[in-house]
Amino acid sequence: MTECCGPAPGAPRGRPACTGCATAGAPVDLSTVKALLVEPALARLNTAVFYFCADTKCPVVYFAADGQRFLTSDVRARVWQKEPPGDRAICYCFGENERDIRAEIARDGASGAVNRVREHIAAHRCACEIRNPRGACCLGDVAEAVKRVLGETRLS
Ligand SMILES: [Zn+2]
Repeated sequence: MTECCGPAPGAPRGRPACTGCATAGAPVDLSTVKALLVEPALARLNTAVFYFCADTKCPVVYFAADGQRFLTSDVRARVWQKEPPGDRAICYCFGENERDIRAEIARDGASGAVNRVREHIAAHRCACEIRNPRGACCLGDVAEAVKRVLGETRLS
């Protein structure tokens, strides 16, 4: 595995509570926040240590200890953690998504999504830090999405 799955270098320890929902946030690199914000949002950013809120019901995507916060409407990409399940793009670099995973499982009984992402990681193609709003590797998220879809398939 490569450095792309480790914590961001220089990221502070500790997980402060989201100012929108009190869920613990995950540190995210400032370059990720800058890359993901729409222009008017970026234009009011002040340099700070930002955290990502993954809570499904909370509209806050990024928050900082100084009170700054950016919502889903301030972010260029659709943040899958904040969207209803079913059709979400989980991998921001290569587009692995719930719809294709479901179709693949229906057709083949399994999904190759995790292996495809692994190959991209091995070839150093990932750009998670500027494409994924969470600023981190999506491999674990894709693996969980495959498990979720397999679970749905078994229930139906
Ligand atoms: Zn929140």
